[in-house]
Amino acid sequence: MTYDVNDFDSLDVVNNDRDHVWHHLAQHKPFEKTGPMVIVKGEGMRVWDSKGNEYLDAVSGAVWTVNVGYGRTEIADAVRDQLVEMNYFAQTAGNVPAAKFSKKLIDKMPGMNRVYFSNSGSEANEKAFKIVRQIAHKKYGGKKTKILYRDRDYHGTTIATLSASGQYERRNQYGPFVPDFVEVPHCCEYRAQEDADKSAYGVWAANQIEKVILAEGADTIGALCLEPITAGGGVIEAPAGYWPRVQEICKQYDILLHIDEVVCGLGRTGTWFGYQHYGVKPDIVTMAKGVASGYAAISCTVTTEAVFEMFKEDEDPRMGYFRDISTFGGCTAGPAAALVNMEIIENEKLLENATHQGEYLRGRLSDLMSKHPLIGEVRGKGLLVGIELVKDRATKEPVEEETVMAIAGHCMANGVIIGRTNRSFKAFNNTICLAPALISTKEDMDQLVAALDDAIADVTSKM
Ligand code: PLP
Repeated sequence: MTYDVNDFDSLDVVNNDRDHVWHHLAQHKPFEKTGPMVIVKGEGMRVWDSKGNEYLDAVSGAVWTVNVGYGRTEIADAVRDQLVEMNYFAQTAGNVPAAKFSKKLIDKMPGMNRVYFSNSGSEANEKAFKIVRQIAHKKYGGKKTKILYRDRDYHGTTIATLSASGQYERRNQYGPFVPDFVEVPHCCEYRAQEDADKSAYGVWAANQIEKVILAEGADTIGALCLEPITAGGGVIEAPAGYWPRVQEICKQYDILLHIDEVVCGLGRTGTWFGYQHYGVKPDIVTMAKGVASGYAAISCTVTTEAVFEMFKEDEDPRMGYFRDISTFGGCTAGPAAALVNMEIIENEKLLENATHQGEYLRGRLSDLMSKHPLIGEVRGKGLLVGIELVKDRATKEPVEEETVMAIAGHCMANGVIIGRTNRSFKAFNNTICLAPALISTKEDMDQLVAALDDAIADVTSKM
């Protein structure tokens, strides 16, 4: 399709944006010369900017969100109809789409049973942290308040969720942080810690969590919060043996397992949820981005009935329930969109497609390794893919962030939007991140690989 930029006063929009909008994760100085990019249209896998340029979006809205693709009139229609019928009432009461969506969601999450609605991934994680903290006070005399998080994982942008994030450049300049969040080591096999037992790295890495628990005191730790596959931290899948050991450790020390599915949830890795690849039984699961594919703001904190019960049967009925609210958790647009979003994933067999296209994409990217020594490793699951770039395969010395930025810039100039680790770790912002919509076709993947091939060749030739 083509987009007619004359349909609206594009110059006005760009000028107003440049003069008044404060963009996310953006250094604004360059906008003074180039003007900000304004996205005006989306359809399927593609978006158009105000200058009429077309892009294949290989990161689903830049931040792995638009799982079912752009221009879904069936979601927009459902949201419109719901808003006309009943747009908002606080979640202190129920509403029709929230009840329907909760049932549909829980059907895909054996072992889980309760859905708490809010508006963003950060907020869903904050709710989970509050649940854990309140349980510590209700059940453990205020002792089990500590929450463990993993190096390289990210859980959000608020002060508490940043306190629980293992990405130092993200945290830099925003301290002081919230107490009682404690870091455990990462489990990236490609960057295995010096003293790791390489032959059983998964179990070794999980045992590092136990070491932290023992050092802190198991009776002080309420929960372990992990991404099923570290996403923005460089697309890191835990090695074999890791998850069963993690589960064992949580059980042994009476620690709740909180899985952050904000990126992996709703089909991104080829199953409804990332943890379902590994036979994990979480106590709390949080999700956001792909829940409604960006058609409405919605996030969920999902718990087992056992967690929920702790808030129901309480000796203190006045103070013992979960005294939390999210105003817009009562907006019906979110669950109305989420319900249709799930129907689309089912009807169009998008889990299967994510698995299939992901394997094809990783296969084609791995083939590029013989041509481009810059590619250190291609990894991921389903349509969540990472390409770690190195100066030298033997030493694994990471490339500079500028190299990855140059590759992304080259792809963009050729009409393909890719992602990358972005001011996350000092000296390790060297991974290209891909998360195209679950509707991706072989042709889309070929276009993406061709753009990357060209960009890596060009950037290498200038090094
Ligand atoms: N958790 C993970 C794993 C994420 O990647 C993100 C955002 O990228 C968040 C939480 C925070 O979500 P939000 O930006 O919706 O607050």
